[in-house]
Parts: sequence; structure tokens; C-alpha cells
Amino acid sequence: MAQGFNTRAIHAGQATDPTTGAVVPPIYLSSTFEQQVAGEPLAGFEYSRCDNPTRTALQQNLASLEGGVLAYSFASGMAAEDAFFRAVLQPGDHIVLGNDAYGGAYRAIEQVYGPWGVTNTCIDFTDLSHVEEVISSTKPRVVRIETPTNPLMTIVDIEGVSAIAHQHGALVLVDNTFATPALQRPFELGADVVLHSTTKYLGGHSDVVGGAIVVTDAELAEKIAQIQNWMGAISSPFDAYMTMRGIKTLGVRMERHSSNAQALAEAIEGHKAVERVLYPGLPSHPGHEVATRQMSLFGGMMSVQLAGGEKAATALTTRTSVFTLAPSLGGVESLIEHPGLMTHHSVEGTALEVPANLVRLSVGIEDIDDLIPDLVQALDSLL
Ligand SMILES: *Cc1c(COP(=O)(O)O)cnc(C)c1O
Repeated sequence: MAQGFNTRAIHAGQATDPTTGAVVPPIYLSSTFEQQVAGEPLAGFEYSRCDNPTRTALQQNLASLEGGVLAYSFASGMAAEDAFFRAVLQPGDHIVLGNDAYGGAYRAIEQVYGPWGVTNTCIDFTDLSHVEEVISSTKPRVVRIETPTNPLMTIVDIEGVSAIAHQHGALVLVDNTFATPALQRPFELGADVVLHSTTKYLGGHSDVVGGAIVVTDAELAEKIAQIQNWMGAISSPFDAYMTMRGIKTLGVRMERHSSNAQALAEAIEGHKAVERVLYPGLPSHPGHEVATRQMSLFGGMMSVQLAGGEKAATALTTRTSVFTLAPSLGGVESLIEHPGLMTHHSVEGTALEVPANLVRLSVGIEDIDDLIPDLVQALDSLL
């Protein structure tokens, strides 16, 4: 029988070191590896841009967690995404992505690949008949899904969109950064490629930047391996080690992130200073039903729209003490930020612009009895 998720998180790719018996795979800080005979590396390793044992350990672990076959780890989530797109795109290709996709992904697709002749359409993935219309008429090479989205927490039906995309010959990439494989397995729902910013929940402690691409198809894997190997936007051995260290506790952290976020969302929904709480675990969320189907828990991310507009939103970000005002997400500590002025500033004036009264919360794993009063007193101060 296949091992459970938490067992794989701790053991997949993490063999005991054969020479010393070290239980934790060592950090191999070697750029090069000795050969006994020219052209015959001892253990398959030659040069660390191409391959490094610590990176291999992380990649095997990631592939196992997503239920993929091969994983490739990179210096950041954007480096991973860039490697995938350069591996599969040609001038004249088209990409369909969500109209609230991660701003950095949109910026790359529009400003880097655009001038190379790659076009794009940003759509609302929650309307499947519209999805069918756009995909059948634009014939994209790639359909890029993110769910839940950053920062609007939109839920996309991975199975529904993948089925449509496949009818029209497109590859489906799912950015699984928010849910993580602990809560959502895109390959089981039809995805071809899974993307992670491992900077977020997989690393989990806000102390390492990284990214990964996971695939099931050998031919696609080979193309991504080539970009990784030839271009070298790789994760360093130390970063790979840090990420593996984080992943061992992913399952328990996601349970606690989810229960804290659920309790917090319920506590502030209906507060006078709040216009709307965007959390897929709330029955009021338009994607609640789809989320219940494709996620085992609803995760630690939520956004809040303030009744008092942008002024109230920016004020709120400075009035909490347990929540720290900072970009990024997915660490053990709670963070608060204003997407319009911070993480999503780059999409201002585009179809992806986010509401000015929006505040994003990355709910950490502190005690819920400290988190709720901290946010409620900050909201009270706005009235
Ligand atoms: C942060 C993030 C990225 C980009 O990852 P980096 O590690 O910052 O390059 C991509 N997608 C989502 C959903 C993210 O939150």
C-alpha cells in the first residue's frame, strides 16, 4: 500500500546517508564531483548546476507529495514558472490565465513573453461556459490555473477547467502554492503540471526563497530538466535542505493554519468595519462548494474588504501586534498586508488590479486566542 502523506513528507527522498549513517541527508556544498575514469561519474553527479544530491533529495520528496513522477526545484517560484514556460512555449503560442492570477506571473507573461510573440487572455475561470468559449477560440498552448488565487481567494474547479483544456489540446498548469499538496492534489483532478512557490507553505518558516515544477509526463520532464540544467536557476544545496526541513511538518502545520483561519474568518465576518471576508471555508464564499470537493481543508490564507475603503485598509495593516505588516505568506507567523500597495502593485491599471479596500492575511499557527483579539481590536479601532 502507498504510504500516507505525512510519512512521505518525512521520508520520501530522505534516505539515510550510506557512508556515515546520518539520518538527515547532508548538505552537499560541492560544485563538482570526482570521476574515477573520464566521463564516468562515481554516483551520477558531475557538476552542481546539472545535479546535486541535496537538490535531488528535495525533488524526489516534492514529486512524491504531489503524486507526480519528477520534480525540479528552482531559486524561486518565478524561476520555476519561467523554466516551465520557456520549456514549452514558442512564438505565436497563447496562454489563458485567470483574471486574478498571481501578479508576478501575469507580469512575466505580458512583459517578458509578450515581446517574444506569446499572447494571452485573462479570464474568469469560475464561469465554465465562458472558459469553453475562450479556450475553443484561442487554442492556448497553456491554461494557467491558480486556486485559491492570490489575493482574491477565488476557487477554480480544476477538474472542470482541465477537461475543457484537454479537449482543445492545451497543457494545464496549476499553481498549488496556497493549498499545498497537503490539502489539494491537482494531478488527481487532471492537471499536467504543478507549480509551487516553496517560499510559502512548503518552506513554511519565512526563511528561504524557492520554487518547484512537478510533472507526470516523461517528455515534458525532459524539457524542463534541460532548462534547469542548461540555464541554472537552481535551488542551492542549503536552500534545498531548508525547504526539506520545512516540508517534514507541512501536514500538521496546514491543519493548524486551516483551523486558525476558519475560526478567525468566522469571528470577523459580520464585524461592522468589514464589508466582506474572502475565505473558502465560509459558506458565504462563492467557491465554497467546489473548494469542499477539491480541498481537504481550506488553508491559512484569507482576504478582507473593509467598509471604510482604502484608508481603513491601510490603517488596519498598522494596528495589529501579533500580525506583522509584511509581504509574502505561508510561514508559521501571522502576516498582514495591503496587496494594492504591496504585493500586487505591479498589476495596477491592468485587468488584474485588486480592490483598494482589500487586506490580505496569512494566518499563522500562533494561539487562536491571541490572533482573534489582535485582529478584532484593530477592526474596532476603525469604527
Ligand atoms: C509568491 C507566489 C509566487 C511566486 O513565487 P516566488 O517564490 O516569490 O518567486 C507564485 N505564485 C503564488 C500563488 C505566490 O504566492
